[in-house]
Amino acid sequence: MQCSNCEEEAIIRVGWKGKNYCVNHYKRYFLAQVSKVLHKYDIRGKVAVALSGGKDSATCVESLTHFDRVDVEAFHINLGIEDFSEESLQKSREICKKQNVDLHEIDLEEKYGRNISEITKEESGKACGTCGTVKRYLMNRFAHENGFDYVATGHNLSDEISSTFNNLANVYLTPFRGLEPVLEEKEKYNMVSRIKPLYWVKDSECQVYADTNDIEYFQKECPLSKGSPTNELKKWLHDLDEKRPKSLRNFAKSFNRIEDRMETSDDELKTCDKCGYPTATEVCRFCRIMKN
Ligand code: SF4
Ligand code: ZN
Ligand code: ZN
Repeated sequence: MQCSNCEEEAIIRVGWKGKNYCVNHYKRYFLAQVSKVLHKYDIRGKVAVALSGGKDSATCVESLTHFDRVDVEAFHINLGIEDFSEESLQKSREICKKQNVDLHEIDLEEKYGRNISEITKEESGKACGTCGTVKRYLMNRFAHENGFDYVATGHNLSDEISSTFNNLANVYLTPFRGLEPVLEEKEKYNMVSRIKPLYWVKDSECQVYADTNDIEYFQKECPLSKGSPTNELKKWLHDLDEKRPKSLRNFAKSFNRIEDRMETSDDELKTCDKCGYPTATEVCRFCRIMKN
């Protein structure tokens, strides 16, 4: 297979473009997808990337370092999940050293007195839900307290569309807010803007980019993971996208338009009585989980 843009051997076919790319032209394509998010939403300033050490967050850090308009730093949350957390912290340190990016470390147990292993022993079967709440809270709080303009996460097109289908399958429509690549800040509620620079690239495309750009990442599965319910949906969506290569992107465009047309209101938002960060109840879920 030859690159559609030069004489080199192609390493990937990007179906929706109908093109094959060599390493160099693929890098250009991939960074153009990231650039599309940065330009469309006029993103510039200080960005804090939530780095777990996995493929997508490591790729997110590396890809943002190619753009002068953003000043990239990373932060890692040590969740205290046995060896898994220790290894993912070590890998995050290696990634940042190699990329020459500052890394901030937040140790959940050290700072708040409890770790995810302990918390989830009390709430059996709810590890990922609880852990997700803790991570989202700490991301926002870290960025807010340290003067960042944005928090970036490594969510890609495959993650976004499969989780939206999963929400639809459960008649859970609230997350239609925040489906776009950028969720605007809400200063009044101490909420920093959240961005997803990898929004327009699929799982497999991130994988190829990471592998061909010498990006190191951590591959171990979390011992508390019960297998994501979206994995089956991802497989189904990827099969469909193979046959009809614009499917995933068109789903994303349609979901974005639906979100634009949904009436949004901040009526249900308040600030937490204990910590001052956004919540829909008097005391936020993080404070309740951590027994603040
Ligand atoms: Fe947290 Fe679940 Fe991810 Fe483990 S798999 S790090 S418990 S969200
Ligand atoms: Zn080429
Ligand atoms: Zn709180």
